[in-house]
Amino acid sequence: TIREVLLSVDGVEATYNHAIRALSGVNLTVRTGEIVALLGANGAGKTTALKALCGLLAAERGQITAGRIRYDGEDIAQRSPAELVRAGLVQVLEGRHCFRSLSVEDNLIVGGQARGWSRAALRRELERVYTLFPRLRDRRGSLAGLTSGGEQQMTAIGRALMARPRLLVLDEPSMGLAPLVVESIFAALTALNRDEGLTLLVAEQNSTVALRHAHRAAVLENGRTVLDGAADALRDRDDIKAFYLGVG
Ligand code: ATP
Repeated sequence: TIREVLLSVDGVEATYNHAIRALSGVNLTVRTGEIVALLGANGAGKTTALKALCGLLAAERGQITAGRIRYDGEDIAQRSPAELVRAGLVQVLEGRHCFRSLSVEDNLIVGGQARGWSRAALRRELERVYTLFPRLRDRRGSLAGLTSGGEQQMTAIGRALMARPRLLVLDEPSMGLAPLVVESIFAALTALNRDEGLTLLVAEQNSTVALRHAHRAAVLENGRTVLDGAADALRDRDDIKAFYLGVG
């Protein structure tokens, strides 16, 4: 079956402060129902690429200087993050951003505000997140800032899910977390993809974990896409991993 292209990034270049060139040719395609991994060493441009496609570069004095980004058939380079969230393109930023002084549940409720859920719908969406991450149900009354790193990452993902994304974009969900916690987070993401068909784009420095769960992967080096292909073709290529991703 040929799946519909949900996101396409073509030849995107970007700078910060009109000076520092961070991206110099990013190409990426995400089809509906896929899990796509965006790989690359520290500083390769993963975060900048994800920010570019979610409308978040301007906030950091960044600008797209060439190329095209299309989501659901439309050019989105000029859209605001809020518009993109309403259109179903939702990002979980690097570093598990939660509101530390709000409870876990209030963090989730904030995530639902983009959709203006009714009270009943809000209940239903909360239940959905608590079913996916039972830990969050236990911790729902705790201040997010006092929960563990893994729980904060789950809260950040849960908050994004409350907006009912069509494309969920995650920046380094494994960062700073113990291997077992990383596994449980990826297991939840894979379950969402399998059971609900949620489309995922995941930037990861941890290529081993990402390639185990992704269908396809793109590799960035110095701000450009240097490889793009089936994840299982890259999985066993230790030479590629050592060369581009700094693991061996
Ligand atoms: P990381 O794993 O550290 O997030 P990355 O692959 O996501 O790495 P980016 O953070 O996108 O890489 O960085 C790409 C390049 O852009 C780097 O050279 C970095 O120094 C530069 N850069 C990133 N953010 C900014 C910023 N806000 N202002 C200026 N330069 C930046």
